[in-house]
Amino acid sequence: MDQDVVIIGGGAAGCFAAIEVARMCPEARITVLEKGRKPLAKVAITGGGRCNITNSFGNVQSLERVYPRGHRLMKRLLYRFGPRDTFEWFEREGVKLVTEDDGCVFPRSQNAMQVVNCLLYLMKNLGVRIMTETKALGIIPEGEGYRIETNGGTISAGRVIVTIGGQPGGRGYSLLDGLDIELVECVPSLYGLCVDDESLKALTGAVIDNAVVSLTGTKLWAEGPLLITHWGLSGPAILKLSSYAARVLAERNYNADIMVRWLTGEREEITDMLNELAAGASGKLLRNVYPRELNGRLWLHLLRRAKLDDGMRWSALGDRETGRLMNVLTGDTYHVAGKNRFKEEFVTCGGVALSCMNYDTLETKAHPGLFIAGEALDVDAVTGGFNLQAAWTTGYVAAQGAAHIRTGS
Ligand SMILES: Cc1cc2nc3c(=O)[nH]c(=O)nc-3n(C[C@H](O)[C@H](O)[C@H](O)COP(=O)(O)OP(=O)(O)OC[C@H]3O[C@@H](n4cnc5c(N)ncnc54)[C@H](O)[C@@H]3O)c2cc1C
Repeated sequence: MDQDVVIIGGGAAGCFAAIEVARMCPEARITVLEKGRKPLAKVAITGGGRCNITNSFGNVQSLERVYPRGHRLMKRLLYRFGPRDTFEWFEREGVKLVTEDDGCVFPRSQNAMQVVNCLLYLMKNLGVRIMTETKALGIIPEGEGYRIETNGGTISAGRVIVTIGGQPGGRGYSLLDGLDIELVECVPSLYGLCVDDESLKALTGAVIDNAVVSLTGTKLWAEGPLLITHWGLSGPAILKLSSYAARVLAERNYNADIMVRWLTGEREEITDMLNELAAGASGKLLRNVYPRELNGRLWLHLLRRAKLDDGMRWSALGDRETGRLMNVLTGDTYHVAGKNRFKEEFVTCGGVALSCMNYDTLETKAHPGLFIAGEALDVDAVTGGFNLQAAWTTGYVAAQGAAHIRTGS
């Protein structure tokens, strides 16, 4: 064998796995194949250049809401290498971290390059060889190991860890052709939604601290801050919905209706709040007094949606008008006409079917010695540092599996 372990893909999961194998097996010959010019290129741009490296999981009520795909696997593996381990691991290596109020963890430097440089330094120090601009094209079982065909020739290895990341459209999985590994169709996740409504888009920049958005005709919903943009809707609530509804939205070709609940809370609470507003502002115009969760421009838009004249006095609001306002505040429907493609965090839903994997080692059931980790698996998360945590966790577990090697064979 040329190498003891070859890791295909020099991203978060691959580089982390390489470091862990090297530490567990100091004698092992380890090579990372990276098709790009630089390893860790995506990590460098994570979190808008700040790298949301993990999450405290303090606000997480159910792993299913965090990992819409792969929560069972993650539940098992987070015990082996979880967010606290990530935190301690990076701090030990000199990357000091801070946890924000929402649980998101970032380098104190607010600089993703610190994470990249830390991983590069460790790989170099541990003797991991990195071959850039080397694209793996095929993996062929051979004897006790594997032969890997690349654009630059062939390399053999006793163990292989595939960490090629999410593959939009599933294209990169041709690498696994002939290995009888099942794939779950790849569709995008984590994107903003284009909305067909010029008056909504005119509110560009408006942020609602907490709204509930749901996909009409399904039970899929998400809650959180909502951002109105020049193409439609975005922000954490929409990104989460795009994750929960990734498959349904793809099936509908991103043509769907979504319902926005601008005010959260029970209907009775909102009715009481409107009654209180009306009582306190009876002589005032609708346009001048509005719920504190909304802003003036959005309020005018919602009044128009409820077919109410903003010059009307609060005291003139009858039951019919209040009912219309309630309907808009708690269930305002917009037509989605496509998804936004740029400038947002973007992951792939789908990948290697978890049914093909040994959950304890991340070794493929069909091919001993062939491991898969990171976003290449059918595991993905909502925003908040959970996707990188999945990369660290699965990279670590695959490394442990791959470290059971006879070196120098
Ligand atoms: C803009 C953006 C911002 C993000 N921000 C965050 C964030 O702040 N927090 C968070 O948790 N998640 C974030 N994510 C998601 C997170 O970056 C990914 O989930 C994570 O990087 C996945 O790690 P990975 O190692 O599996 O894949 P990747 O990091 O994608 O690495 C895969 C590597 O494999 C290489 N490769 C692919 N095919 C081959 C081949 N055939 N041969 C050789 N090399 C190959 C690729 O070039 C790539 O370098 C963000 C994603 C994007 C796009």
